[in-house]
Amino acid sequence: MYQGLALYINGQFLDSQGRTTQPVINPANGQILGQLPLASRADLDAALDAAHKAFQSWRHSSPLERSAILRKVAELSRERAQDIGRNLTLDQGKPLAEAVGEIMSCADHADWHAEECRRIYGRVISPRNPKVRQMVLREPIGVCAAFTPWNFPYNQAIRKICAAIGAGCTIILKGPEDSPSAVMAIAQAFHDAGLPPGVLNIVWGVPQEVSDYLIRSPIVRKVSFTGSVPVGKQLAALAGAHMKRITMELGGHSPVLVLPDADVARAARHLARFKIRNAGQVCISPTRFYIHDDIYDTFVQRFTDELANVRVGDGLDPDTQMGPLAHERRVPVMKQFVDNARQLGGKVILGGERIEGEGFFFSPTVVTDLPDHAMLMTEEPFGPIAPLTRYTDLDDAIRRANSLPFGLSAYAFTQSLQAAHQLANELEAGMVNINHFGSSLPETPFGGIKDSGIGSEGGAETFDGYLITKFVTQI
Ligand code: NAD
Repeated sequence: MYQGLALYINGQFLDSQGRTTQPVINPANGQILGQLPLASRADLDAALDAAHKAFQSWRHSSPLERSAILRKVAELSRERAQDIGRNLTLDQGKPLAEAVGEIMSCADHADWHAEECRRIYGRVISPRNPKVRQMVLREPIGVCAAFTPWNFPYNQAIRKICAAIGAGCTIILKGPEDSPSAVMAIAQAFHDAGLPPGVLNIVWGVPQEVSDYLIRSPIVRKVSFTGSVPVGKQLAALAGAHMKRITMELGGHSPVLVLPDADVARAARHLARFKIRNAGQVCISPTRFYIHDDIYDTFVQRFTDELANVRVGDGLDPDTQMGPLAHERRVPVMKQFVDNARQLGGKVILGGERIEGEGFFFSPTVVTDLPDHAMLMTEEPFGPIAPLTRYTDLDDAIRRANSLPFGLSAYAFTQSLQAAHQLANELEAGMVNINHFGSSLPETPFGGIKDSGIGSEGGAETFDGYLITKFVTQI
């Protein structure tokens, strides 16, 4: 049984009766799993109205009340992780263990927000005149509109929902139409946890139509989006035209530097595992490899051997280590990257092809000997392809790593403290990982710089985008 699909507006689950629907496809076999109801204009208006009305009381709710609901959502997420994970594997494709892991880590996110929302503080500023009292208040910004993608459907949505609700805002979220079950499960968890009607609303539709309508609405005060850079820029421009606050978590093209003193075997093993996670459809996936000349051949051999042994298949099969791409449209995009690399002299030493048969499978792929202007080195592949290049001088490698307009995540492997220090200082990225992969925990800020976004989610910064600063002075 696949998850029931609905809109969730003003505390009510609204089914497909009288609404346009869109099929949801299992990427492992191309079969239709269910029909997703899309919101009409009237539904969007109802969501706006509900979020607006609910804000009038939710903004005054006690942090203890918000915290209790977020804690309950964490508990329900843990209890339901197997079922939610199975549905997530069905409509997104990732292996079941990864899907269940995503839900469990999101329970931690909900707990973190439950803890932190009790610590949203203002401050008192010493006055020049002792009769004056000066205070800084932090208040919820208002109704938020959020748009989340299909690669981590539970994770991306719950971060935005917990931050908005924990801050005292209300929210309308449009989830990923291709992989909707996880967002439905979040709505059910908040509903069962006793969230008042209208505080959280879930809608589905044609992405551009929904975002355009919600962002233009005077009711919406804040826009949060996770997805591709081009779409992020469009939404940020529209939000700017209407003077709305934004949080943008956009794509990257994460450089990996492996220095000559690194533990090469460990780096190759860890990077290969991280590369195939979610079939490479991860915004912080390692995507551009700069390997020092002295260890290049050893690294290439070990990394390729690791990827050659990856078991690709249906995510529900317990032996599967990498599932299909989430959508059929991603398969020709992978082919385009590989064809472009070949045209520019790149050698495809592993994979490079669609895996024939049912489903949207693409083999783990390693490409070497390609120039820095190849598509694979300049555009985020968002798939299981790794381009490996050489370097000889660290300053030059850092310059190449920083040469793109993106700045989400960066990775380096070295045993030199001095080099680690230089890399931490000079890599242009919102998150720098040295000798391990440590981004994306609830207590750490997640976000990009340059074209990769604006603002952070998680960490002590998590509520910043959802609060306004009000200065009060009285005598
Ligand atoms: P896309 O650019 O069409 O869409 C990316 C996401 O944005 C999807 O979830 C989509 O539903 C949503 N979207 C698209 N247009 C929108 C609009 N006008 N308003 C609101 N939402 C909108 O590409 P795609 O084929 O779905 O995904 C491929 C690309 O998206 C990848 O190259 C990758 O860079 C990016 N992506 C990034 C993330 C991330 O976590 N940063 C997640 C998913 C996809």
